[in-house]
Amino acid sequence: MAAPAPKRSISREAEGRPLGKVETRTETGAETRVEPGTTPAANSFARWQAGSAPAEPIAAILDLLRQGERFLVCSHTRPDGDAVGSMLAMGMLLEQMGKRADLVASDRVPPLYRTLPGADRIRSVLRVRGLYDAAILLECDSLDRAKVRGLEPYFHINIDHHATGRNFGNLNWIDHEATSAGEMVHRLIKASGAMLTPEMARCLYVTVLTDTGGFCYGGVRERTFTLAAELTRAGADPIGVAREIYFSAPESKLHLLGAALSNLHREGPLAWLWVTHQDMVRSGASEEDCEGVVNYALTIAGVESAAFLRELPEGRIRLSLRSKTKIDVAAIAASLGGGGHENAAGVTLDGPVEQATERILGVLRAALREAESR
Ligand code: 5GP
Ligand code: MN
Repeated sequence: MAAPAPKRSISREAEGRPLGKVETRTETGAETRVEPGTTPAANSFARWQAGSAPAEPIAAILDLLRQGERFLVCSHTRPDGDAVGSMLAMGMLLEQMGKRADLVASDRVPPLYRTLPGADRIRSVLRVRGLYDAAILLECDSLDRAKVRGLEPYFHINIDHHATGRNFGNLNWIDHEATSAGEMVHRLIKASGAMLTPEMARCLYVTVLTDTGGFCYGGVRERTFTLAAELTRAGADPIGVAREIYFSAPESKLHLLGAALSNLHREGPLAWLWVTHQDMVRSGASEEDCEGVVNYALTIAGVESAAFLRELPEGRIRLSLRSKTKIDVAAIAASLGGGGHENAAGVTLDGPVEQATERILGVLRAALREAESR
């Protein structure tokens, strides 16, 4: 394996400019001249070597946020409610702290989440460049998950709550107990002393609502409702958010669902359905319309685990896995190169759809047999 590239932050190395050259930056409103490599930020950042997982991650992250000036905020490809909401709230926190935040993702924000405050600030990019103290990655188990090129050289702050989360960053905070990355951003906001604005509260409420499937799964606990209550008090508007998320589907989504349900199969505790690329074209469906389709198979009484397969235009297969209790689908997805949570995970497989179906059914059958024998 190649040696990891040295990390840079703007304080340590001014990209495209010789090191040591005096740089101008703004500090608390006044123009100050600083020497790159000699600022307090540089020392602070240098403390965290690749793979660090501090005992007090919130304090460590806030320390870096306070000392840096410019941050990149990024989440995973095909951003979902948690990805979008947590990025937006993180951007708002950074702005309140007087920092500059650039929000990027490899794919566009799905229409469902475009009404969130500041959603148009998230730019869809193939590559990033420029000077940043750090790249904050939300919800990613690797740089690769972001599908944004050019991230490698930055200092990485990794904030994740997935079962398959990994310490790939310089500074890592992974909390499997958190319902969403948004819940973790909420904790950062509280600890920073920043004000929880109605806009932040709305974004964060969306992260909790969507990642728990409407408070149905994904580690919902008493404190989840305490959080929801706090966000509501701060102005989240649960009814308005629910209307936007659950009652604003485009007609194409329903046509796609019809196609998927006509391919529904059942084998005892397993249920699966799929759509071909042709089904997508015929329904006029976009990839966002596929969100939640797998859950219809899981609604069947007695079904423990469900799979939804979608043929991509180039022939590969996107697989969504869900389980009620017994099967750890995160482990299954991870064994195939994907990841996720114990009860909700995904991966991209080779086609054709029949082969991918047989492959995943084989693994699910084995997992069920194993769960039964426990
Ligand atoms: P979905 O089935 O809704 O696409 O994804 C369910 C969960 O699994 C989400 O939390 C998502 O982040 C995660 N997930 C889906 N696909 C992948 C993948 O290809 N790689 C990883 N690491 N996680 C995935
Ligand atoms: Mn999430």
